[in-house]
Amino acid sequence: MRNYIDEFRDSEVIGKIVQSLQGYSGRRLKIMEVCGTHTMAISRYGLRSLLPPQIELISGPGCPVCVTPTSYIDSATELADNKNVVITTFGDMMRIPGSNSTLIHKKAQGSNVQMVYSPLNAVELARENPDKEVVFLSVGFETTTPVIALSVSKAKSEGITNYSVLTANKTMPEAIKTLSGDSELLIDGFLYPGHVSAIIGTDFFSYVAYNMEKAGVVAGFEPLDILYSIKVLVDNITNGNIVLENMYSRIVSKEGNIKAQQKMYEVFEPVDSVWRGIGMIPKSGLGIVKEYEIFDAAKKFDIKQKDTPEPKGCLCGEVLKGKKRPGDCKLFKKRCTPENPVGSCMVSSEGTCAAYYKYGG
Ligand code: SF4
Repeated sequence: MRNYIDEFRDSEVIGKIVQSLQGYSGRRLKIMEVCGTHTMAISRYGLRSLLPPQIELISGPGCPVCVTPTSYIDSATELADNKNVVITTFGDMMRIPGSNSTLIHKKAQGSNVQMVYSPLNAVELARENPDKEVVFLSVGFETTTPVIALSVSKAKSEGITNYSVLTANKTMPEAIKTLSGDSELLIDGFLYPGHVSAIIGTDFFSYVAYNMEKAGVVAGFEPLDILYSIKVLVDNITNGNIVLENMYSRIVSKEGNIKAQQKMYEVFEPVDSVWRGIGMIPKSGLGIVKEYEIFDAAKKFDIKQKDTPEPKGCLCGEVLKGKKRPGDCKLFKKRCTPENPVGSCMVSSEGTCAAYYKYGG
């Protein structure tokens, strides 16, 4: 495994690609890395600094914690006040500021909030505590959603009815369509996330290339994966070759993971969804289908999400759309730090503000 990874960090090969990229002297190009894992890898390895000024990498909305709206956190913190409820969640979610509180504060005040590594752990907890209602905070993109769907179908097949999920799941395609058509952004090409592509396949990204005329590359997460993908993207754009290239074919296929897709759409269906700072994008989220509705926490606890404003001064929405950089926010590194985040982009390890804070821009 180590050797396998080392091949994608080979400094000699990387040096040749960087040299070739630095020779680029065409028009200014805007390339969006859609996903937070790419944002973190680009910052961590200092890849932005290896590119010439004409190649601009901008970060997109692909960090699930970052795009979860304040209103969802408010619903979760309100639910945490219910003494009969155990809230289960991935760790990052505990620190996202809601309007008045965070889940970690609720836990400190005595609410039953538990961090889990998988929604299957939450099902286990529900089985062991039949007198409690166990709610899993269901966020994430296509990479995470299949296992959440699995947890729901497992609960159903085992007759565990005290388990439910509060959904804020998102899907990539509609968000990418929205960003592609944004006349202020004028993106030239997309670097697509390898892990999401491993689930959904490459067909949608081909659609964006051929129908929306935006070149794209599906890329892995090692430095060589990313730099070589940028090189391919720049060459294709320069040559007027507006296509999708799959540079992560060791993991990603055209059709994706059919079993994971089937499981996901057995339990979930597309719904309109609010993205933090961006607003509502039609059919960009996933809600529970009728057959599984007893596992829908919003229905079980009659939760109506409100339209809650983002924290004053926070530019997360603009950062998530690639229109501003973290340094443009007056709160960056002052009132907003990873220890005391004001906005969600500073919370997650994949958030753009957190990446810029830790590694620089
Ligand atoms: Fe929001 Fe903090 Fe980023 Fe500013 S620095 S945009 S307040 S997360």
